[in-house]
Amino acid sequence: MNTNELWQSVLGELELTLSKANFTTWFKSTFISDVNEHAVIVGVPNMFTKAWLEKKHSREILRSLSEFSHGTIKSIVYRVESRPASPQAIPLFEKTKPETLATPHSMYQPPREEVKEIRTGEFSLNGKYCFETFVVGKQNELAHAAAQAVCAQPGGIYNPLFIYGGVGLGKTHLLQAIGNELMRKNPNAKILYITCERFTNDFIGALRSSRMNEFKNRYRTVDTLLVDDIQFLGGKVETQEEFFHTFNQLYQNNKQLVISCDRPPKAIASLEDRLTSRFESGMLADVGSPDFETRCAILGTKCQEKQYSMDREILHHVATVVQTNVRELEGALNKIIAFHQFKNTRPTLETVKPILASFQPAMNRKNVTPKQLIITVANYFDVHLDDLLGKSRQKRLAFPRQIVMYLMREEMRSSYPSIGTELGGRDHTTAMHAYDKITTCLLEDEKLQHDLELIKQKLYAL
Ligand code: ADP
Ligand code: MG
Repeated sequence: MNTNELWQSVLGELELTLSKANFTTWFKSTFISDVNEHAVIVGVPNMFTKAWLEKKHSREILRSLSEFSHGTIKSIVYRVESRPASPQAIPLFEKTKPETLATPHSMYQPPREEVKEIRTGEFSLNGKYCFETFVVGKQNELAHAAAQAVCAQPGGIYNPLFIYGGVGLGKTHLLQAIGNELMRKNPNAKILYITCERFTNDFIGALRSSRMNEFKNRYRTVDTLLVDDIQFLGGKVETQEEFFHTFNQLYQNNKQLVISCDRPPKAIASLEDRLTSRFESGMLADVGSPDFETRCAILGTKCQEKQYSMDREILHHVATVVQTNVRELEGALNKIIAFHQFKNTRPTLETVKPILASFQPAMNRKNVTPKQLIITVANYFDVHLDDLLGKSRQKRLAFPRQIVMYLMREEMRSSYPSIGTELGGRDHTTAMHAYDKITTCLLEDEKLQHDLELIKQKLYAL
């Protein structure tokens, strides 16, 4: 991967979370101008942009940079520089690790970016999420078929289309695919993809600045409205009211609505009945966890996209170990590719297995009890069980304690109150704080990442 490709990936991700205007204003003339040991130098057009990015977007940019560089990049420096017509593409891994300069056996080629410049106005669609790259299996064929039917006849019988299912199972991908396909068929169509959170924020912003007309105009005049993660509407009374009217206006004019959610309409807490019944009035389609065959097919497709070849036996192994969702499956694959690209070797079962240690099958996870987890962590940090559960706030005890709380949440999906109880009757807010703290530390602290890997290995080897 080189710096240009890296920056394109980062921008692609940021674009999905920002309004088009915002994105264009702040990121249009940016580029990676240099990269050293662990930092990238981002070229920006002026001091104002520099200050703005530092203040407002630095966190997301760094998170994204770090993710796409597989943790290589740890910091950013912004520098005022004018963007050359074609910024120099600096090979990323060569600069940071000179030993990878050796002639590669089979060099990982980043996916050929076919992300079209979509003439989106303010519509944030990412061309990468299309029907061609979506693998269909039993658990998503209904949602996929409905999505295609919507494209064949927007505003027709599948209106609204309500797609629901757990995280990482392709809901956003399908919404985006619909948007891209409709845009391809009719480049003049007004397609708006929006997360429910952004809708909410926009609405609040419009209320505060008395710009409701502008807001209404923006949402009520589209041909297709794609709303992602509608569960966030739960409990937001005024936003629900506004969304209800937006919905009705569009629906009455035979405009297409597609909505995604992590649960079925009835299960959204504090959602008005009239909205629930609207959501249920069209087509409901769920997406489930992919079965083994589909997981293999998805891995095969992703390898192709990344132009990386991997033995069938290894793909099967990955599909056996990683069962939760497609995002994790992709994450595992990226980890494997990055690791072997780095080492300049071909993946084998032996080299792949340790990389997958953190993706144990769900079955194994269930067997671990809170008690076992607490003992494992106590042993790992060499502290007494009683001390770990006791009242002392010494750092040598408080830190392992926070790790226990984090792992109980992350690995066992325990509720915060029950975590508090397991840890000697602490308050649930203590558990929440611990979880947040460790999550934040993990982003930057490699030693901690390593510690957690080892603890998990010990835990699941029980
Ligand atoms: P959700 O919105 O349901 O949480 P996403 O749509 O963001 O999930 O999917 C997570 C990742 O998995 C994305 O990179 C997406 O492209 C990929 N993905 C999910 N389902 C499929 C599928 N059936 N075929 C190919 N890729 C998929
Ligand atoms: Mg999503």
